[in-house]
Amino acid sequence: MKRSLYTIILASLLISACTNAQVNKTTNMDSLKKDNPVFSKTDTNKVDLSNAEWKKILPADVYHIAREKGTEMAFTGKYWNSKEGGTYYCAACGNPLFSSNGKFESSCGWPSFFEPISKGSIIYAPDNSHGMQRTEVMCGKCKAHLGHVFDDGPPPTGLRYCINSVILDFEKAREAEKNFNSKGK
Ligand SMILES: [Zn+2]
Repeated sequence: MKRSLYTIILASLLISACTNAQVNKTTNMDSLKKDNPVFSKTDTNKVDLSNAEWKKILPADVYHIAREKGTEMAFTGKYWNSKEGGTYYCAACGNPLFSSNGKFESSCGWPSFFEPISKGSIIYAPDNSHGMQRTEVMCGKCKAHLGHVFDDGPPPTGLRYCINSVILDFEKAREAEKNFNSKGK
């Protein structure tokens, strides 16, 4: 009897801990953009901030990927398996990076694309760290580290842009269309 009571108390503690974590995560995501003065989906000017400045305006996980070239664990990000139609923006600055039309199903555990949304949306740099020869891809507007590009992708490009979910900010197609239309008026 006593043991089952403990189990109930423990279970309810765990449930409330999970709920709180989720609430905090959402709040952080919203406040992230409010506290980030350089985040804009319309301003195309280059963003050039020091790491100290980035540290003040980005959540720790985004900062780690964007400025310290971190890598999220495979199969843990929110977009690796997503098939929703829409646009993926840079989570640090709002630059449009990839369209869901350029995304493909890859078993690698990270969101994978065969092409960026436009040529200038990303920039490339050789990366010889960790004993490998890879090509790093960065945001063309704020130089945030996004991931790497490999040449084992599907047609038509044969490329696989392997990107961290953490540095992506997804907007569903219908919302994007609404924003686009209201801008055009
Ligand atoms: Zn960016």
